[in-house]
Amino acid sequence: MAETENKTETKPPVKPEAAKPTNCAKCNKQFKNKLWYYKNGKYYCTKACWRASLKAQKPAAAA
Ligand SMILES: [Zn+2]
Repeated sequence: MAETENKTETKPPVKPEAAKPTNCAKCNKQFKNKLWYYKNGKYYCTKACWRASLKAQKPAAAA
């Protein structure tokens, strides 16, 4: 007796979704709480880290 039951599981295609933020993009510190700053596609633990990152990205141009 050969059972040919092909169960076609309808699994939703797992998209390579952006990994959940677990570490700060600046100081790489792990997020302890669910509060973080999301700026320009990156996550920061604090506003200070975000600003620091901005400073690091932008050259010291005169305002
Ligand atoms: Zn940080």
